[in-house]
Amino acid sequence: MRHTRVKDLLNSTTTLHEVNAKGWVRTFRNNQFIALNDGSTIDNIQCVVDFENTPDETLKRITTGAAISVTGTLIESKGAGQKFEIQVAKLEILGDSDAEKFPIQPKNKPSLDFLRENAHLRVRTNMFGAIMRVRSVLSYAVHSYFQQKGFVYVNTPIITGSDAEGAGEMFKVTALPFDGTPRTEDGKVDYKEDFFGKETNLTVSGQLEGETFAMALGQIYTFGPTFRAENSNTSRHLAEFWMIEPEVAFNDLNDNMDLAEDFIQYVIKYTMDKCPEDLKFLEGRLLDEEKSKPAAERSEMPLLEKLNFVLENNFKRVSYTEAIDILRECTPNKKKKFNYIINEWGADLQSEHERYLVEKHFKCPVILFDYPANIKAFYMRLNEDGKTVRAMDILFPGIGEIVGGSQREERFDVLVEKMKALGIDEEELWWYLDTRRFGSAVHSGFGLGFERLVLFVTGMTNIRDVIPFPRTPQNAEF
Ligand code: ATP
Ligand code: MG
Ligand code: MG
Ligand code: MG
Repeated sequence: MRHTRVKDLLNSTTTLHEVNAKGWVRTFRNNQFIALNDGSTIDNIQCVVDFENTPDETLKRITTGAAISVTGTLIESKGAGQKFEIQVAKLEILGDSDAEKFPIQPKNKPSLDFLRENAHLRVRTNMFGAIMRVRSVLSYAVHSYFQQKGFVYVNTPIITGSDAEGAGEMFKVTALPFDGTPRTEDGKVDYKEDFFGKETNLTVSGQLEGETFAMALGQIYTFGPTFRAENSNTSRHLAEFWMIEPEVAFNDLNDNMDLAEDFIQYVIKYTMDKCPEDLKFLEGRLLDEEKSKPAAERSEMPLLEKLNFVLENNFKRVSYTEAIDILRECTPNKKKKFNYIINEWGADLQSEHERYLVEKHFKCPVILFDYPANIKAFYMRLNEDGKTVRAMDILFPGIGEIVGGSQREERFDVLVEKMKALGIDEEELWWYLDTRRFGSAVHSGFGLGFERLVLFVTGMTNIRDVIPFPRTPQNAEF
């Protein structure tokens, strides 16, 4: 008999028919009640075993983590909580699990650190099951938004010769000889230093390539893996993360802000509609965690309220100059102690400043725009004042920067001038400059770190917990 997913069983409209379910045992109580989970939903289905007619040998093998198949009648559940359960007629152990050794014991409440070391098994917990389903739905929402609006999905290269502004430290690509015997004459491993004669790296951003496509297709987006050799061990940085980068011809900075805000609100709404149970579960987890914290550290809003708040309120748009004025007010003797004090226009904001603006001052998502040219990348559109660029960063409570974007410099001469001043080789970016040579036009785009979005939507606090296999300096084992 073909199995039915637990989610569908729990949403059945009829009972008293024969069903089969397959999944993994979460718990087994009183030699009778199995809580079975198959990953389709946060909920387990209760399977009631006829223990008098089941051999002891079989009962012993119903252990946490074991894979089983149950066939029986779907009946209404008398217990609280669930509508249906399975009255088991036939039980098969598909794969045993040594209960003593299985690392994920629900009773022990394993720590997040411990679970990170067991990334291959942590997905068997309710928390990680929920996070991974939410992540999956969010990525579908990304495509849904752009596809509905007629954007073209572009796969920009992962191995590239461009370092896109030096957005971070890069991983260099090293090619081994084709013959599989990478040895030099004296027996040493013979790594080629580059990609068949050309120096390349793993992409840090698909933007520059994306721009060339936007200048033909009008509106494009990328959504792919991005690599930065971040050796900083923060809870917001991964060495491998997924980035969403739309790029739109004929859009200026304001259009770009509108797009980013509309996009973020859409994907959050979409996910709230599709994942109510998982989000409710994650909210409950957070509330439990909050109770154990000192009052001052508790977050003010439960998860769903926080998500609704983002849907219902416009993001506050603030220029860099206004932000600096606000931060300057917060000298050590006044409202807030910063580790790094901003005392002049032109300084780059640190994450403590960004979070202060969002969490304490404005208390809502903030779009900061018109940054000093000298702290932003070469390709951003210079304003008429000659000292600021049309850049924007979107800052979120609990996260800090979630989006970085800009209107791009469309004027060939200004761009080349800027590159010269920064020592960026014109020859190497000849293909990029072609977009300004042939039919240049105003255009803009942004990069949104997908994991930072998942962090926000799930309420998790460490980026290592929202990607299946985090790549950080300590985590590259599998
Ligand atoms: P940050 O200031 O947090 O280091 P950034 O300014 O270096 O970020 P950008 O180059 O603007 O990042 O990249 C666009 C977006 O990609 C960021 O707004 C962020 O959401 C995300 N991002 C950047 N670096 C990482 C990383 N190492 N891990 C996860 N997401 C990242
Ligand atoms: Mg960075
Ligand atoms: Mg930044
Ligand atoms: Mg940035």
